[in-house]
Amino acid sequence: MGTTVRINGVDVPPGKRETIDLPVAKLYTHTMLAMPLHVINGKRPGPSLFVSAAIHGDELNGVEIIRRLLKLPILNRLRGTLIAIPIVNVHGFLDRSRYLPDRRDLNRSFPGHERGSLASRVANLFMEEIVGQCTHGIDLHTGGLYRSNLPQIRANLDDEETARLAKAFGTPVLINANIRDGSLRQAAAEQGIPMLLYEAGEALRFDEVSIRAGVKGIINVMRALEMLPASRKKKKPYKPVIARASNWVRSSESGILRAMVALGAQVEKDSLLGVVADPFGEREVEIRSPYKGIIVGRNNLPLVHQGEALFHLARFQKLDAALALVEEFHEQHEPEAEYPPGPEGPIL
Ligand SMILES: [Zn+2]
Repeated sequence: MGTTVRINGVDVPPGKRETIDLPVAKLYTHTMLAMPLHVINGKRPGPSLFVSAAIHGDELNGVEIIRRLLKLPILNRLRGTLIAIPIVNVHGFLDRSRYLPDRRDLNRSFPGHERGSLASRVANLFMEEIVGQCTHGIDLHTGGLYRSNLPQIRANLDDEETARLAKAFGTPVLINANIRDGSLRQAAAEQGIPMLLYEAGEALRFDEVSIRAGVKGIINVMRALEMLPASRKKKKPYKPVIARASNWVRSSESGILRAMVALGAQVEKDSLLGVVADPFGEREVEIRSPYKGIIVGRNNLPLVHQGEALFHLARFQKLDAALALVEEFHEQHEPEAEYPPGPEGPIL
């Protein structure tokens, strides 16, 4: 038998599932603001995994990933506990903003403090009530405003268990990411909790491929943790490609950008990535690739200042292998047009 999970004084015994509103703070209207979460406690013991989204309040793909995840019948066979928190930064979500009302970034405010800033208090609450009783975590993100990311896992691949789970997730590209100060990932790592960060799509947008790949990836990780039974389909082990390095190519001029490369495209050294021009086209500046690689992030807004991040370029030792994986990944997750569309999508 598993053990009872208790959050905010609510008990969820083994074999039960429960939605819990975790009080965060009062609004200045007197109304209490709560962080909604859902606990599925398996009958049998196993790891405790949290899956969180919208730590940046404008990053929505993860919210839909969690909605779809929680509907899957396979969760009836869960070993251990799944705690799903679709909207961590409730203030930011209401404001359609990345930040908290005090302009702080929640993902730079961990582990937080009960008497700190609002962001620091939310971080502290999350650590105390959720991370403190978990063994593993997956945090779902998207690119920032007007920026989309090719689905990718960022994790500390120098840690063996984290690397194993990162590979199990099943995105073609892995980025060995340095831990950022004050992130949930850092705070969890300090408590010995392996954590993955899934980055896919753009802020304030839904992207069907990113959502599908996210749901699939979480299930893959849960299988790797033996929280769910192994897939009956015999598949060859998936070998994602680890980026050696990645950098943003920035605009040398202010102007209007015409982007020439899509997300996931392979580019050679000196390939034309885009052109930045004034509105008359009198002055045109070409943006070229500093090295051979794959576009893993892209700015979708044509209006750019000098210094603006335009294309996120990742460098690989085995570039051909990475490219093949990106193509295979898209074929696998691209929705076939389903008519008439059902309430479960695809979202187009
Ligand atoms: Zn984010």
